[in-house]
Amino acid sequence: MADKKQEILKELYPEDIYSYASKLTLGEAEVLQQTRQIIEKELRPVINEYWEKAEFPFEQFYKLADAGIMNNPKLFEGRENAQKPREIYNAFLYYELARFDSSVATFYTVHGGLGYNTILLGGDERQVKEFAPKVANFEWQTCFALTEPDHGSDVAGGLATTAKREGDHWVLNGEKRWIGGADTADIIPVFARDVEDHKIKCFVVRKGAKGYNAVPVPRKVSLRAIQNAHITLEDVVVPEEDRLQNINGFKDVANILIHTRADVAHIATGMTGGAYAATVKVAKERDQFGKKVGHFQITQEKLARMLANVTSALSFSVRISELMDEGQYEMVNSALAKMNNALVMRDTVALGRGIVGGNGITLDTDIGRFFADAEAIYTYEGTHEVNALIVGREIVGKGAFV
Ligand SMILES: Cc1cc2nc3c(=O)[nH]c(=O)nc-3n(C[C@H](O)[C@H](O)[C@H](O)COP(=O)(O)OP(=O)(O)OC[C@H]3O[C@@H](n4cnc5c(N)ncnc54)[C@H](O)[C@@H]3O)c2cc1C
Repeated sequence: MADKKQEILKELYPEDIYSYASKLTLGEAEVLQQTRQIIEKELRPVINEYWEKAEFPFEQFYKLADAGIMNNPKLFEGRENAQKPREIYNAFLYYELARFDSSVATFYTVHGGLGYNTILLGGDERQVKEFAPKVANFEWQTCFALTEPDHGSDVAGGLATTAKREGDHWVLNGEKRWIGGADTADIIPVFARDVEDHKIKCFVVRKGAKGYNAVPVPRKVSLRAIQNAHITLEDVVVPEEDRLQNINGFKDVANILIHTRADVAHIATGMTGGAYAATVKVAKERDQFGKKVGHFQITQEKLARMLANVTSALSFSVRISELMDEGQYEMVNSALAKMNNALVMRDTVALGRGIVGGNGITLDTDIGRFFADAEAIYTYEGTHEVNALIVGREIVGKGAFV
């Protein structure tokens, strides 16, 4: 059985030279293997076309539900009452998706990470029961609407969208920006400030709500295959029963971000692995001066640095997942991982882009897509500077945000 698992993992992740993936169970490895098969059959043939036309391949993406990436019973062996698969599986699921394409991984993280965690951590028992299963089986698409046009890094203190209670319902007004998948989502968790107590609360806006409008941000040069919406909320009415009962201030939002920041660290790891794999393929195939590009010493030095980056990013991803599986959730851990992994991702896609030469600026070798998409990952879920400041606060015991 161990051999079967090793065989699957070796085939999936030859770049995992320290065998971090061996921490997965056979069942988890099998789900990832099935995920890979669906990616190769359904998504790979269309991804560049969708990236170019700035549309999301919904039909092909939802084939991933067939693998049960969020709820396959193989992910719950021995822990049948858990609401989520193990974090270590989660890390490799993100690795798998982002190793292929980061728009797909990002679409998944706003749905299965940000949105799903908001429901699990923010909802009361009734709300979790109503929303979570439909999200886990992809019947309902969800997202996460926190950032605003005028408040990105300073959203904790600056959040300007308002919620006013009127009897048994709330009235929302304001704007949100960059919200992944919000133009097609069925349920949209919107964070707004209660005008009475000034606390940040979360309201589930349902598709088609009067006064809700979501328009994709046009002309993006990064993550073109996922739409990020600019939302306007004009007197949107949300019943009190759709206010997530366990979100009563920014500390509850920060608790969600601990999880999702780790998820984005894993996406950066996946992009690092994907960029490395795509570059190695070209380096072994393309001839210049009568030999393979990968046979030059100077190319091998770059490939070695890229592999070191993959290994470093994997070590961060795997260790924070283990800590989370043990119940240790610290913002500094997620922030450090996001900061480090985004840095090595950026270094790796640039090295790969250079090795692939002119073909690396087209969509033909995949590296061009990784190179362009890395910029969005570098910025979202806490910019480099903001995550560094979170780590810095921990180091010296004083916040330096303002
Ligand atoms: C592709 C994409 C997808 C996204 N998806 C979502 C989503 O689904 N839901 C959601 O709610 N949000 C989403 N976001 C928003 C994202 O989280 C923000 O872009 C991010 O928090 C940064 O905010 P900003 O872009 O407004 O930059 P700003 O906050 O305006 O920052 C501009 C620059 O100033 C720097 N800076 C800011 N404050 C400091 C400081 N104190 N010290 C030093 N430097 C500082 C920043 O690091 C950055 O370099 C997404 C963004 C992108 C690009």
